[in-house]
Amino acid sequence: MKRVIIATKNEGKATEFKELFRAYQIQAVSLNDLKELPDVEETGSTFEENATLKAETIASLLSLPVIADDSGLVIDALDGRPGVYSARYAGEEKNDQANIDKVLSELKDIPENKRTAKFVCVLAFAKPGMETMLYKGYCHGRIANSPIGTNGFGYDPIFIPHASQLTMAQLTQEEKNAISHRHHALQQLETSLKEQDIIF
Ligand code: IMP
Repeated sequence: MKRVIIATKNEGKATEFKELFRAYQIQAVSLNDLKELPDVEETGSTFEENATLKAETIASLLSLPVIADDSGLVIDALDGRPGVYSARYAGEEKNDQANIDKVLSELKDIPENKRTAKFVCVLAFAKPGMETMLYKGYCHGRIANSPIGTNGFGYDPIFIPHASQLTMAQLTQEEKNAISHRHHALQQLETSLKEQDIIF
C-alpha cells in the first residue's frame, strides 16, 4: 500500500488526513506512529514557508512523501497578527488563555464591524525530487468581545464564524469540521489528488 507521512503529533488533525487518504487506498501515518524525529522550528514569516519547511525537512529525512500544515488566526484590525505567531502570541509557553487575553485587550476599543478575522490553513505536500505543492483554506468570521464555549482549542472561544451567532467553541466537532480552514485546505488537496493522480 502507498504511504504518506502526516507531519503532526496532533491526533485530531492526523485522523482527518487518515480518513481522506483511506478512500484513495493510501495509508496516512502520523509522527506519533513513527520513531522520534527532530522538531522542525517554525522559522518562516508566512504560513506557506513554515508548512514547506516542515514537509520538506521530514520528507528528506525519511525519503517519503510528507504532508505538513501550518495554521493561525489573522485579524484585520491588528494588521494580520497573530498570524504565524498564533500559537505563541503571548509567550513561548503557548498558552491558549493568555493568547486570547492578549488579542481581546488589543481589540478592546475596536467596534464590532471592524473586528473581522480569518483562520488560515496551508498544507504543503513534499516528496523528494518533486516540487512541493501548496493548498490554502480559510474560515472567515469576527472576534467576539469575550470568550464563550468550551469545545475546540486555541482561539475558538473568541472566533464567530461568518453567518453564525455562536463562537467556534460552541459548535460541535462535526459542525466545526464542515466549515474549518483545515477542511477547506483538505478539499483542495483532495481535488488535486483526483485531478493529478499525485505520484506517491
Ligand atoms: P498549528 O498550525 O497547529 O501550529 O496552530 C497554530 C495556532 O493557531 C494554534 O496553536 C492556535 O492558537 C491557532 N489555531 C489554528 N487553527 C485553529 C483552530 O481551528 N481553532 C483555534 N485556533 C486555531
